Amino acid sequence: MENNNTSSSGILKTAQHNFQQAALRLDLPEPVRQHLMQTKEQITLRFHPALPSGRMLDACAFIARHSDVLGPAKGGIRMTAGVSADDVAGLAMEMTWKTALIGVPFGGGKSGIVCDAASLTPEDKEVLIRAFARAARRHIGPELYVPAPDMGTGEREMGYLRDCVSYSEGVSIPRGCFVTGKPVLLGGIHGRREATGKGVVYTLVSACRHLGIEIKGLRIAIQGFGNVGAVAAKQLAALGARVVAVTDLTGGIIHAEGLNVEALLTHVQQTGGVAGFPDSQPLSPDQIFGVDCDVLIPAAAGSQITAENVRNVRARMIAEGANAPTTPEADDVLNAAGVFIIPDILCNAGGVFVSYLEYTQETQREQMTLAEVEARLEERMNQCFEEVFDYAKKNNLPMRAAAMDIAVSHVAEGLRARGVYP
Ligand code: NAD
Repeated sequence: MENNNTSSSGILKTAQHNFQQAALRLDLPEPVRQHLMQTKEQITLRFHPALPSGRMLDACAFIARHSDVLGPAKGGIRMTAGVSADDVAGLAMEMTWKTALIGVPFGGGKSGIVCDAASLTPEDKEVLIRAFARAARRHIGPELYVPAPDMGTGEREMGYLRDCVSYSEGVSIPRGCFVTGKPVLLGGIHGRREATGKGVVYTLVSACRHLGIEIKGLRIAIQGFGNVGAVAAKQLAALGARVVAVTDLTGGIIHAEGLNVEALLTHVQQTGGVAGFPDSQPLSPDQIFGVDCDVLIPAAAGSQITAENVRNVRARMIAEGANAPTTPEADDVLNAAGVFIIPDILCNAGGVFVSYLEYTQETQREQMTLAEVEARLEERMNQCFEEVFDYAKKNNLPMRAAAMDIAVSHVAEGLRARGVYP
């Protein structure tokens, strides 16, 4: 297969590899493979905000729309120092499969703003996101591309983005949903912030039920303690699991008997990271995947479990909260070792599912209750897990291959249904 987008990005390589494997298994016709291998649209933006702290930034951002076969592109805005155009393309491709798998009428998109979010004051970050919104305005829209939070961005930034759109339209609220993950008062939905982490836990609970493993007492190690990792930790602790190790950009901590997650959340709020948490021992961040535990939850960056560290893994299950955390080489080793992997496009799809609910409620000017959102999230995550688990069993495939085959088939079917023009 021709690869017009070769790159050094581990995330893009992983996304392309997983797609190519699915295309082979499904025997997709060559034109369909070509179509879905490529990014439909990729944009580089340059803008120069003057920050309140006095700095003038030479800012760079990327937007990728991988596919809009099943609907407008959907995918978060990542703000990290290292994000590249190819990372964004790979993450957009992942979003195409994730939205198809979880059954929401979206395609795949992503944005990246090249900046170390943690180095900015809240005021500087606001100006940067508003400058991004201005530069990106004509690439964002309810029928085109609908952003959401990702690493380095959250509810606040989505609120600013929504406000910028209102401002540019000269109206109080824009017609339709331009961005999800907003504050509830600005058209957001209850439960969006927790949706991805809760979805991770629903899939893990389903997996344990099928594999005959008790959640209570299960030892969990988590990389990343942000939106996804911290919520998953809280939910798992509430179910009686033991969170034994956590790392983030500030360092790592370990406690074989289980960390006090509530106290850790307070510590992170007060200090900005997990390092130095009392009642724990320090853990070198690069040791997280070798921790003696039952379940690993990568919930940070991509390409973290690699050929170099995969043989240290002692867990019997991996729940991929992060996008593309496992390289193809590491995936092969884990599959051969019988490690049960809940793949990213299934495991962390709760966020985009609740984003879809936000999109529909805003279009209809409604407000769903938290109970409604949570019930629909749990039901959809469980249904989707069962579908992937059954397919994997019937076809004797690992969960990732099963999830990819289902998702790619949906998109290929959509392409065929649309005819020759897309
Ligand atoms: P976040 O910015 O809220 O938190 C990221 C966390 O990871 C922070 O604790 C940070 O310190 C830590 N981190 C970053 N790089 C690290 C590294 N190299 N080693 C250890 N820790 C590191 O981001 P998030 O929204 O929680 O996203 C985490 C992952 O989940 C990303 O891969 C993202 O694409 C994926 N994801 C997020 C959502 C969502 O709704 N936020 C949805 C689906 C997938």
